[in-house]
Amino acid sequence: MKTPAPSTQALHGAATRGEVGEPLSPSVVASTSFYSHPDAAGFSANEMGESAPYFYTRWGNPTIDLLEKRLAILEHAEAAVCFASGMAATSALFLSLLKAGDHLVLANVCYAGVAELAQETLTRLGISVTTADATKPERIAAAITPQTRLVHIETPGNPIFCVADVEAIARVAHERGVRLSVDSTIATPLGLRPLELGADFVIHSLTKYACGHGDALGGAVLGCTEDMNELRKGPLVHLGASLHPMAAWLILRGLETLPARMALHQANAARVAEFLESHPRVHHAYWPGLSSHPQHELARRQMKNFSGMIAFTASGGVALARQLADRMRLISYAVSLGKTKSLLFYIPTDDLLRTSYRLSEDDARAFRETAGEGIFRLSVGLEDAEDLIEDLRQALAD
Ligand code: PLP
Repeated sequence: MKTPAPSTQALHGAATRGEVGEPLSPSVVASTSFYSHPDAAGFSANEMGESAPYFYTRWGNPTIDLLEKRLAILEHAEAAVCFASGMAATSALFLSLLKAGDHLVLANVCYAGVAELAQETLTRLGISVTTADATKPERIAAAITPQTRLVHIETPGNPIFCVADVEAIARVAHERGVRLSVDSTIATPLGLRPLELGADFVIHSLTKYACGHGDALGGAVLGCTEDMNELRKGPLVHLGASLHPMAAWLILRGLETLPARMALHQANAARVAEFLESHPRVHHAYWPGLSSHPQHELARRQMKNFSGMIAFTASGGVALARQLADRMRLISYAVSLGKTKSLLFYIPTDDLLRTSYRLSEDDARAFRETAGEGIFRLSVGLEDAEDLIEDLRQALAD
């Protein structure tokens, strides 16, 4: 049989055919402990073999296990480890790879929480951080020092959805013996497979498109079996940010429709982005699928789905944000992204540069050129595209 397509794998990947009378849906194994035997497992995670039986849910659980296996199939990874959130996954990876004296090169545009984790927590632990423009692989190369252990990028990068060339960055990192992690939350495995382009690790906030319904937090790191075993034995077990089996079940259910949802997110985003781009009040609309997007050619080459996230700048700033929050009927003014229903949130540039990003003067200037006084971040949902456009049209009117 040929390798099943992602839409098939999202439904069936890693599932075992049941016997007559058994449920078709996976079970939520809501148990912290599993029957053990003195000969079956040691008390420390360091003793945990690859095929250890279930012992304690912080180490592993059948519902979480199925999610990890299905994610690995979709991402074409050897293995996955799930965590309680995308931030838990990212901090677990950083803390497993970096120690005092090491250096991290971080994309200068990434989820604000990750920028804060790096600039505040990692530096407090004696790990130095340099931010660099990930849309220019030569800037990443220039930021690498003999102490650099990891390059971390996000593509498309939240909140302006710039696109980084994963293959080129993997090359410059590997030439210097440095590993590369890619936060691919926005692209999803349907849009991008960073491991196939040379990345060593992929991170997903499963809270977003993977779950898709905005009702569970989760995160995952994917990579080779050896690295994932280390991540499980170390940060997962010791830092303890494990996923709840119910959240794993909700994310498994979400994954079933991920391919269908991503197709519709992309189609709707194309229509809405075109509308926004031609709206007189909008200065710029950024969606990797627009031919005007600064990295559109790269996005076309690298991505199989442009996803459903649009950033736009418009006259009015925070006053316009208030107007949209008051007037929008279908689109909710709220944080997060990637759920069935459309969400919009305004991110003032001054706030982002003050609270989260620590950019060089040149990078801050370049960010302002793209983001203006603030970014309206729109997560285009699965509503009818014309209805969404109508909602935006009436909400944006003078
Ligand atoms: N990565 C990206 C690209 C995100 O947008 C977010 C959250 O918005 C995260 C990671 C963090 O994920 P979580 O909220 O699940 O911790």
